[in-house]
Amino acid sequence: MVCCQRNEREEPNEPKEPNIPSAGLTASPKPVRYKEQSEFSLKQAKTLTIPALFILAIGLAIGSFLNVCIYRIPRGESLLYPASHCPICQTPIKWYDNIPVISYLLLRGRCRKCSSPISLRYPLIEVLTGLLFLLTFYFYFSSLSLSSFLLFIKNLLFISLLIPILFIDLKEQIIPNRFSYTLLAGGLIFGFLTRFFLPAVLGAGIGAGLFLIILFLGSLFLKEAGMGMGDVKLAAGMGAFLGWKLALLCFFLSFLLGAVIATILLVTHLKGRRDRIPFAPFLVGAGFICLFFGEHLLDFYFGLVW
Ligand SMILES: [Zn+2]
Repeated sequence: MVCCQRNEREEPNEPKEPNIPSAGLTASPKPVRYKEQSEFSLKQAKTLTIPALFILAIGLAIGSFLNVCIYRIPRGESLLYPASHCPICQTPIKWYDNIPVISYLLLRGRCRKCSSPISLRYPLIEVLTGLLFLLTFYFYFSSLSLSSFLLFIKNLLFISLLIPILFIDLKEQIIPNRFSYTLLAGGLIFGFLTRFFLPAVLGAGIGAGLFLIILFLGSLFLKEAGMGMGDVKLAAGMGAFLGWKLALLCFFLSFLLGAVIATILLVTHLKGRRDRIPFAPFLVGAGFICLFFGEHLLDFYFGLVW
C-alpha cells in the first residue's frame, strides 16, 4: 500500500515527515513533487501486519456498533439498553453470537433461536467499516508523530460518522442532527489541533452556503425539494473535515455521482420521477473518494490545467 500524499503543513525549516499525508490541509494548490515522498518499504509493510490486523479488528467492532446506531437512533431507542436482541423473537444475543462477521457466517445468517434471517446489511457494514479503517491506517498512520496520529484519529471519526449517515438516509430518508453536529464540531476541533482551522472553517462555510443556495433554488423551481436541511448540515460538517479545497471536489463529485446514479435508476425504472432519492449517500461516497484519493485527483486536475 502506498502513502504518497504530501504534507504541506510543515514549516519550511521543520524536518520533513515524508509519509504523512495532508488530506487537503492547505488553502492553495501547489505543484506536487511525488518523488520527494518515500513509499512504504516491504519491511515496513511486514512490521505493520499485526497493527493492521488490530486496526481491522477495531474497525469490524466499530462497524458492529454502527449497526446498532443505524437500527436504533431513527427509532429513538437507547444505544445501551436493552442489550442486542433478535428483533423477531426478542431473545438476547449471546456474546459468541455477536462477533462481527464470524457469528453471521457461523449462524449462516439466521437467528440461533427462531431461525429468522439476519439482514446481510449487518456483516456488510462491519466489513465496510473494517476495510475503511484499514485503508486509513495505510494512508494516514505512517509515522509515530503526534500530527500523524491526530490525522489518523480524525479520519477514523470521519468514517465512523459518515457510515451511519449513509445507511440511515438510505433507509429512513433522514440525517439525524447528532451526526451532522458531531461531524461539524469534530472537523473544527481537529482542524484547530492540526493547524488546519481556517481551511476547516472555510470548508464548513462553503458546504453550508452552497447547499443552502441549492435548497433555496430547489424550493423555487421544483414542487418537491430534492434536498433538505439535513443535507445542508451534513455538507457543512463534511466541509469542516475535508477543508475547503477537498470539500469543493467532494461536492462536485457528489453531484456527478448523483446525476449518473439517478439517471440509471430512472432509466431502469427502479425509481420513478416522483420518488425522492436521498442525497447523503452521494455526499458520503464522494467524501470517501476524497479522503483517500482527493489530493491525487486535485493534482491530476491542476496538472492538466496549468
Ligand atoms: Zn430470533
